[in-house]
Amino acid sequence: MSTVVAIDGPAGAGKSTVAKLLADKLGITYVNTGSLYRAVAWALDQQNLAVEELTADFLEKLSLEYVNGSLLVNGNDPGAALRTAEIAAGASKVSKLQIVRDHLLPVQREAARRGWIVMEGRDIGTVIFPDAKCKFFITASLEARAKRRLAQQGEVSGNATLEDVMRDIAARDEQDSKREIAPLKAAEDAVVIDTGDMTPDQVVDAMAAEVLKVM
Ligand code: C5P
Repeated sequence: MSTVVAIDGPAGAGKSTVAKLLADKLGITYVNTGSLYRAVAWALDQQNLAVEELTADFLEKLSLEYVNGSLLVNGNDPGAALRTAEIAAGASKVSKLQIVRDHLLPVQREAARRGWIVMEGRDIGTVIFPDAKCKFFITASLEARAKRRLAQQGEVSGNATLEDVMRDIAARDEQDSKREIAPLKAAEDAVVIDTGDMTPDQVVDAMAAEVLKVM
């Protein structure tokens, strides 16, 4: 079994917040896999290429590597450049492609080589580490998720309304859960947590209690 705490769920459910807190609490590395798909979308954008122009050669030339939990793209940390709404939408588009998912699978498996990690994404418990020792599916209603995004302001342009954010998130949910390859869904053995009425600390405490049973 893989020494991985797999955390999957839709956009805006609070996965990153609780995944980071949980990793800190357990003293293990946190790995965000959405950054990989965002990095592919970002690198395409940097070269003024459309998703349709993505080739195997483009992926081969793109160096993606986790160093202490941070993703380096061609040796550099792109930081906040990956967190815009445009790059999120691009990530959702490239993530539908088999060639992209195949390319990113070993990068993610490699990250678990050095002991326990918390890994967050959409298909960690179903595809990347189906044998993860601990799996969670973190969710909340569309409205609750959109309200959180709006409050954080990250990924939301200055004058976006709640309706705008709900529409963006719903489009991404639809694309992520209806795609043919590795769609967003809870693994059968995942613990499902609805974070709608919970604080991040409450979610983390509930998760830590589960992880400590198997760690
Ligand atoms: O988690 P984040 O919002 O950064 O992910 C951006 C996009 O990357 C998602 O909407 C999804 O399309 C894709 N993704 C994925 N599989 C993962 C992580 C992210 O398809 N494991």
